[in-house]
Amino acid sequence: INYNANPNRYDSMVYNRTGKSGVLLPALSLGLWHNFGFVDSIQNAREVIRCAFDLGITHFDLANNYGPPYGSAEENFGTIIKADFKPYRDELFIATKAGYDMWPGPYGNLGSRKYLIASLDQSLKRMGLDYVDIFYHHRPDPDTPLEETMGALADIVKQGKALYVGISNYEANEASNAAKLLKELKVPFILHQARYSMFDRWVENGLLNTLEEHGVGCIAFSPLAQGMLTDKYLKGIPEGSRAAKNMTYLNTETVNSNLEKIQKLNDIAQKRGQKLSQMAIAWILRQPQVASVLIGASSANQLKENIKAIDNLEFAQEELELIDKIVS
Ligand code: NDP
Repeated sequence: INYNANPNRYDSMVYNRTGKSGVLLPALSLGLWHNFGFVDSIQNAREVIRCAFDLGITHFDLANNYGPPYGSAEENFGTIIKADFKPYRDELFIATKAGYDMWPGPYGNLGSRKYLIASLDQSLKRMGLDYVDIFYHHRPDPDTPLEETMGALADIVKQGKALYVGISNYEANEASNAAKLLKELKVPFILHQARYSMFDRWVENGLLNTLEEHGVGCIAFSPLAQGMLTDKYLKGIPEGSRAAKNMTYLNTETVNSNLEKIQKLNDIAQKRGQKLSQMAIAWILRQPQVASVLIGASSANQLKENIKAIDNLEFAQEELELIDKIVS
């Protein structure tokens, strides 16, 4: 045996119900978008995943194209599952998705039945799994009939390849239409995955209410604005950080233009006796529709720090107002 999970792993994590489903998710979940590809150290990846599970994180979020290269996060995850997590499969809630660019040609992108079904089959092979717990359509596709995309999700569930389905990045009205179709199809639609942080509050503009009406939960991605809502960039851009790598979605310019806000938010966090990352996570969890906050981590230490968000989830009205003022 390579790994014995911490026997106390369920003692301190908070688990929240997703919408009106039977599924409980940990208040913090781990995403494998960055840091788990072939370009990264699999030893570190393995350590982070073990650490997460030992802390009560049961939910791991992947997608077909996480890496780089595409598919490699799923493949590494599969290697780690096989080595360490075989006895724990039924304690894990594993997600994958399709919807963005994955393979060349007209069938490796967007929202066709052709793409979704083939992509999930590939994902299952890479991860060495018989089924995933949830399969998402990763982004809306305005050119494919929603009936076709939702029909594909329904058949995936009927085939036993996913237990539940979700959607991601759909706006409120699109999500509402998807929910209606999935209800007709009697498919367990339990989660919408949406970007949500103190720096990006679009979900407060209708989406969260729509999800509640349909009994669907929300899982919030990029809650730390990819690291900006931590103390990491307060004294410049550290080597090896995501901003230093000048990724498409986070670069030195974005960091610098937000620095003043980050400093002010950090002051509030300190007064609360929290790290900024912990406050940023707690702030999202204040929304009753949010079942889980989906974080990324490049080290086990980041995870250990972030998990302590659950030690202080309460906000005074004045704190909330101050945060509103800083980020508006
Ligand atoms: P975060 O906003 O949580 O950013 C994670 C990054 O922040 C880490 O990689 C690390 O950056 C930094 N960080 C985390 N904790 C700390 C800490 N305590 N101190 C200092 N720095 C810290 O989320 P992501 O943007 O990574 O998104 C999370 C997950 O959400 C993804 O893995 C993916 O599963 C999902 N997602 C889904 C999308 C969708 O379209 N559905 C889109 C984007 C993400 P560094 O590497 O620099 O150390």
